[in-house]
Amino acid sequence: MGKLIVGNLKMNLLTVAERDRYLESFKKELQGKNVSECEIVLCPPSIHLESFVGKIEKNDFSVGAQNIFWEDRGSFTGEISAPMVKNIGGEYAIVGHSERRKNFNETNEVVKMKINSILNAGLAPICCVGETLEDRQNGKTTDVIIKQIHEGLADVPVSKIATVVIAYEPVWAVGSDSVPTSDEIMEVRILIKKIFADTFGQPVAEKIKILYGGSVKAATAKQLCIDPGMDGVLVGRESLIPMEFVKIAEIINQNI
Ligand code: PEP
Repeated sequence: MGKLIVGNLKMNLLTVAERDRYLESFKKELQGKNVSECEIVLCPPSIHLESFVGKIEKNDFSVGAQNIFWEDRGSFTGEISAPMVKNIGGEYAIVGHSERRKNFNETNEVVKMKINSILNAGLAPICCVGETLEDRQNGKTTDVIIKQIHEGLADVPVSKIATVVIAYEPVWAVGSDSVPTSDEIMEVRILIKKIFADTFGQPVAEKIKILYGGSVKAATAKQLCIDPGMDGVLVGRESLIPMEFVKIAEIINQNI
């Protein structure tokens, strides 16, 4: 199965020049590199979604939104909807990122509404789950992840469930330099597979893609993705450096 390499560019690329430099440098880095077993997804700020889609050639990368609102249209000042992302050529939308859970009160209930809207629009949700350091220290990792998946995916019909991508992002590993061991990641992967098998059946559990996210770098990509048997990575900081981001994809590709 191919690997999914997702770059969350967050609130960066402030000018048109910076955006264009990023895209040019990214495409240059990709030239001649073997990432044939990887699907690369770039998630720029929403203002750049359309220009990123416009730069895709030869399936170099796909484009996703970092966030959407759960309604399709209407009086929701400042929001963008899943159909808007789909209609300009986007394919994915991140939902439940820990920064949104923390700063914008994105609860499991909100995640549920957003996932439904993303699926109805024909996009694939990348649903982030993961424990805080306090949860982990208190032995609550399993409970937190079960609750996030059960509540966040509560309304997803079985026919659409295989489209959902889960990103395991321990909150304490995002934007820090602490990372879990390969075994700790593998334990969570097995837990997530079991939740899906129990809730939606074994065939769905086998299909579901589970990514790891949190301080992924080229030097740690194998240990954080391949060794624990993950289906790819969600990358923050290093995705802003095209050379490093492409290196992560190359290393994962080499080690499949
Ligand atoms: C993220 O924001 O999803 C993330 C994983 O960030 P970083 O790679 O910087 O830890």
